[in-house]
Amino acid sequence: MTATYITTTIPYVNARPHIGHALELVQADVLARYHRRCGDTVRFQAGTDDNALKNVLAAGAAGLGVREFVDRNAEAFGALGGALSLSVDDFIRTSRDPRHRPGVEAFWRACSPDLYRRQYTGLYCTGCEQFYRPAELRDGRCPEHGTEPEQVSEENWFFRLSRYAAPLREAITTGRLRIEPAARRNEVLGLIDGGLADFSVSRPADRAGGWGIPVPGDPGQVVYVWFDALCNYVTALGYGQDGPARDEAYRRWWAGPGNRVHLLGKGVLRFHAVYWPAMLLASGQQLPTGIFVHDYLTAGGRKISKSGAGSPAGGPGALEPAALAAECGADAVRWWLLREVPRVGDADFTVARLVARADDELANGLGNLVNRVVAMIGRYRDGQLPPAPGHHAASGGDRLAAACRQAGDAVGAALENFDFRQATAAVWSIVDEANGFVNRARPWELARTGPGGDSRRLDAVLAQLLGACSVLGRELTPFLPGTAARVTAQCTPGADGRLPGPRPVFRRLAQRARSAPAAGLDAEEPQQEQQHEGADDRPDDPDQVEAVNAERVVLDEVLQETPDEGAENAQHDGAEDPDGVPAGQEQPSDSAGDEADDN
Ligand SMILES: [Zn+2]
Repeated sequence: MTATYITTTIPYVNARPHIGHALELVQADVLARYHRRCGDTVRFQAGTDDNALKNVLAAGAAGLGVREFVDRNAEAFGALGGALSLSVDDFIRTSRDPRHRPGVEAFWRACSPDLYRRQYTGLYCTGCEQFYRPAELRDGRCPEHGTEPEQVSEENWFFRLSRYAAPLREAITTGRLRIEPAARRNEVLGLIDGGLADFSVSRPADRAGGWGIPVPGDPGQVVYVWFDALCNYVTALGYGQDGPARDEAYRRWWAGPGNRVHLLGKGVLRFHAVYWPAMLLASGQQLPTGIFVHDYLTAGGRKISKSGAGSPAGGPGALEPAALAAECGADAVRWWLLREVPRVGDADFTVARLVARADDELANGLGNLVNRVVAMIGRYRDGQLPPAPGHHAASGGDRLAAACRQAGDAVGAALENFDFRQATAAVWSIVDEANGFVNRARPWELARTGPGGDSRRLDAVLAQLLGACSVLGRELTPFLPGTAARVTAQCTPGADGRLPGPRPVFRRLAQRARSAPAAGLDAEEPQQEQQHEGADDRPDDPDQVEAVNAERVVLDEVLQETPDEGAENAQHDGAEDPDGVPAGQEQPSDSAGDEADDN
């Protein structure tokens, strides 16, 4: 079994999480769930960068103590695990996790032949927490933040990055360290070829307000926050600690032959693809095997402020992923991120787009399909599974059969290439083909007793459609764990051998949210409507099916459903993914220890 270690970056916690953070977490979760289903042993790690200098500054601006401020925001990041149905195995907080500091100290000592002290004067961007060379600035301003860096002169520790240009180049060009997309790989090669200057890896402790990890043997300096933060990928595995924890976790996930994959945004590429591999080489460790770089989200056409303060249109909290998930369901948020964000290029998020995508595809496309199929089997076959088609494979169903057959491989190939949009499109072709097949095959006519009726063909059509729904339940699991579990439940006969009655697998979100302000799904009181679930309402033609399924679901129901969704995830993952930590049950904690490795 391949060991696959998947990490997100650890965001600094100078503000609460925004939708941009959700993108990386959801992408990583899809990979983790997918690899578990493939039989890999998987460790999915996230966390927070508590030690950033900008946390200190933001706490001061908020009039709070650094500890209180950092804890409060870090908790909001930890809570994303439950809110977004993330199968996180471990969540590390760099200021509180007892594994982190000894690991950073050991890492520092292991790099010490490449560390030296010198006086340095340079242009420093606090937003980036890095020095810039004048040539790297855009009109004298930080290319990330658009702010003017300040001139800082101080004595720091430096890392001899210049020594590592050749080995880094070799690792990247041979594919030992894979960087995707290719444009990012070329960007890194360009940085290397442009000459790697040694970089500063400490700050005077007084400038950092005493926050951070003191440099071993030089307590007047604290370890540069990027050096500190990057170490999380191995400190959480027990690096630098004595005893069996390091032997087991570190060897399995980092020192072994498996996959070590980092997901990150384009703004931190240099740190992950140049500094971090050089630090690993200097300390005698293995490199990551893969680095996947995503672009940024904008919101309503505006850049999401790095400080988190600029949530457009909706005021504070408008783009908080946990709030969105509470209102729309985790799967609706996940679906937008996976289905609409391209592999290359920025994407613009609005609540209206999220709602439209979920209603059109999950409620109408998928929900209608599953509901129609289950309802027809209930009505025409009393809920009994139709006999498998055999030679009487439903004619006209070739394209659907092909979509079902190819989906698994297509998803695998797309995810191998970190292309989430292509992966979801491969699954989605089943929905499109199946809905088209229903409309062409017209089972409600085959069910007639008189002319046009054809019981054998009806069996074949229904069997193929139910098979397609089962494939959807399976293939959607990494992407939409809650919805996939409901689809699978609809396709699974009970003890009496009958399928359950049709129930919505995805409830339509309030239509009015499309015109409501961001996160304003509750802007108006939704109209109350009854949910019909009785057998008498089983539809037998497309128009009636539409009438049943297009019911506008009130927000209250969506909200009430959220805990159930978590429970279903747990059940489903428990059945299929013995390695999975059931969503909603993970306990992001500082001292999760290494129990999480035992899978
Ligand atoms: Zn900056």
